[in-house]
Amino acid sequence: MAPIATIGGVSVTRIEESIRPSLVPSILFPDFEPDSLERHRDWLIPEHYDVREGRFRTSVHGYLVRTAHHVVLIDACGGNDKVRPVLKRFHQQSHPWLERLAAAGVAPAQVDYVICTHLHCDHVGWNTRLVDGHWVPTFPRARYLFHRPELARWDPAGGQVDLREPRDPMWEDSVAPVIEAGLAQAIDAGHRLDDALTVESAPGHTMGHVKVRLSAGGEEAIFCGDVMHVPLQVYYPHWHTSFDDDPQMGIRTRRTLLDECAERGALLLPTHFAAPHACRIVRAGEGFSIQWIEPGRPG
Ligand SMILES: [Zn+2]
Repeated sequence: MAPIATIGGVSVTRIEESIRPSLVPSILFPDFEPDSLERHRDWLIPEHYDVREGRFRTSVHGYLVRTAHHVVLIDACGGNDKVRPVLKRFHQQSHPWLERLAAAGVAPAQVDYVICTHLHCDHVGWNTRLVDGHWVPTFPRARYLFHRPELARWDPAGGQVDLREPRDPMWEDSVAPVIEAGLAQAIDAGHRLDDALTVESAPGHTMGHVKVRLSAGGEEAIFCGDVMHVPLQVYYPHWHTSFDDDPQMGIRTRRTLLDECAERGALLLPTHFAAPHACRIVRAGEGFSIQWIEPGRPG
């Protein structure tokens, strides 16, 4: 499987779980402007918006980063067999994701680090897999790096989760087993890995959400997780989702991200953009515009 990008000699490979019509614009974004679909229709349809279904098409994928010393997985998708009564897209899925990882030349035991941008169920799923009725870490030799405030946000013992709300048990099946196996490491913003990767705070969607900066050979890429869900938000950064922890903070974080991508020429690698998945950001008047990478050609 060809890398989606090579940044200063560090290869980045996208490991896809699924792409499908998923989110209804007006439900996802309370401030959605319907004429935006018409204005951007030339690049939006059919890849990023399904007209028949009236939904955005979104991808769920993780990124495999091979630095000089380590294999790092950023975001672990929804996983297989998870019971998800609330988020049905991820309920008892059966995806050939580990086969795709193998096609990228990596066995689970070769993954050295796992970084989850946040602990929503579509970012932690492959942290574990079901073996003989038990959730066990998928990557037995990896250290799983979790941002300390994000752990506090989701730990049912921490008091920040309303246990009366219906919720998916992602902590119980995808985070707790990793902690119990002794593979979890709580990290603070600014944490560095191999001189190439830096974990940085990007709050709003969740309060402990992080982005990961890859800097190598004078080039830069930013794995931004869910700072943005769909590419239209490049043009409408003030659209926040209906499930952000702090919508106003999320808007500030998104603008900061777009600013720095435009300023530094960084490649943007979100977790849910449909093909071609990665882009650069350029300034356009008061706002921003997208420059997609060419599909099939590493950017
Ligand atoms: Zn997500």
